[in-house]
Amino acid sequence: MQGADRALSAIARALGDDAVLRDPDVRASYATDESEVPASTPAAVVRARSTEDVAAVMAAASEHRVPVTPRAGGTGRVGGAVPVEGGLVLSVERMDAVEHIERRDGIAVVQPGVVTGALHAAVEAEGLFYPPDPNSLGSCALGGNIAANAGGPRAFKYGVTRQYVLGLTVVLPDGTVVSLGRRTAKGVTGYDLTALMVGSEGTLGVVTEAIVRLIPKPESVHTLMVFLADDQDIAGAVDEALSRRIVPSCVELLDAGALDIVSRQAGLAVPRGASAMLLMELDGDDAVVPGQLETVGNALDDRGAVEVLVAQNASERERLWAARRELSHSFRKEAAFKLSEDVVVPRTKLAALLGRCRAIAEEHAITMPSYGHAGDGNLHVNFLWDDPGARPRVDDAIKALFEAVVQMGGTLSGEHGIGVLKAPYLPLEQSAALIALQERVKGVFDPEGIMNPGKIFPAAARRFHGAC
Ligand SMILES: Cc1cc2nc3c(=O)[nH]c(=O)nc-3n(C[C@H](O)[C@H](O)[C@H](O)COP(=O)(O)OP(=O)(O)OC[C@H]3O[C@@H](n4cnc5c(N)ncnc54)[C@H](O)[C@@H]3O)c2cc1C
Repeated sequence: MQGADRALSAIARALGDDAVLRDPDVRASYATDESEVPASTPAAVVRARSTEDVAAVMAAASEHRVPVTPRAGGTGRVGGAVPVEGGLVLSVERMDAVEHIERRDGIAVVQPGVVTGALHAAVEAEGLFYPPDPNSLGSCALGGNIAANAGGPRAFKYGVTRQYVLGLTVVLPDGTVVSLGRRTAKGVTGYDLTALMVGSEGTLGVVTEAIVRLIPKPESVHTLMVFLADDQDIAGAVDEALSRRIVPSCVELLDAGALDIVSRQAGLAVPRGASAMLLMELDGDDAVVPGQLETVGNALDDRGAVEVLVAQNASERERLWAARRELSHSFRKEAAFKLSEDVVVPRTKLAALLGRCRAIAEEHAITMPSYGHAGDGNLHVNFLWDDPGARPRVDDAIKALFEAVVQMGGTLSGEHGIGVLKAPYLPLEQSAALIALQERVKGVFDPEGIMNPGKIFPAAARRFHGAC
């Protein structure tokens, strides 16, 4: 009997036969995520229902040295949930309860399979607010958001997932259960392993419960769609709002290439002369936000915006957002092949980065539309191509992009993580000593190397990239 079979027998005894799925069609449906990483089918999928289940799975996997890839919603963009070294996929999708909302303490205790949009709805029904809002919020889940330190449009004003995670229950790779962090607003006890776990991409342990911080729900939200003649005006438009002491909850941008595609593929009406679009949102008190909206709208008009549209109600707001949410799918329809990067530069360098992207696209003869979170300087640069032989050109263009970003004082990932796809590029941003230190941290948590192997570190991902 192989190690995986032995581990699965022990897991089936502990969790019941119905928790272990070996059907080839089911296994195939857990072989990919929303990245361009090729499918890699696991030996089996295990669906856990509790922390105890996860502990039993990890103890058996550790004993028999079987790789385990944790998975929540499967919407990751860098292959984090793809079991590139086979073994088991450990799905937390059935651990989908919002266990408590403690309104007066402003916290929620949630399981990792809770879909992010469902958490929003549950806390908002209590007049509270959980700000992190990845655009995939209808299908991604808290466990994945925590492992990826997810951001989203509202990160500009409210920050990313890490700012809202107070405490975690984590199952370590050997099956030990630990409670990290706290449920209080403040606390300094030992090392901040909660912060380390957030963004660790499922390589250190499995999150089975989270205590998240909630804040009061803003009374109202208003949306502006602003068309600009030139994407070089984007940073100026954001500064225009900030100089009036108004902090938009989000500022989303589409460059000329993205506007063109979304107008053709998703029917967005783009006014003549527009070559960039901003979707700006202001939230806060009913008595204050409409005045702020007028101030920002007028200021952008004065700056020469081609058109400023204001959503008059919730359905119009949803219509303005629909085009933004459809972007990734519109790009997929546009070309046979697509890769998407997720870089960040200081906001003041955003115009320079957009200019550099245009130059790289020309030099390498690749279509490179971009969109992103302008307030944070976070750009999703896409690479679209039809000719399968163009892949080496695309790889050169990606490297040129990363080099430019690092030169501008930026970083390779704002919110998607490193996963499999970006692992070879990590040394462009981080020193050999820093990578080695992080590998030693990984070794302390996971001495057998069974926890989501093949991710983040260039050496760990070499097997996958070598095989490409
Ligand atoms: C259309 C679209 C829009 C998107 N927009 C955004 C956006 O605005 N902002 C943003 O940040 N991201 C965005 N993403 C990327 C993605 O949705 C996020 O990375 C999200 O946080 C992944 O959550 P998930 O539940 O799907 O995780 P998965 O894909 O299942 O897993 C992601 C990573 O988390 C690990 N993991 C999952 N569960 C656990 C657990 N319980 N314990 C430990 N590790 C675990 C996995 O091993 C993997 O490494 C978008 C994706 C799509 C397809």
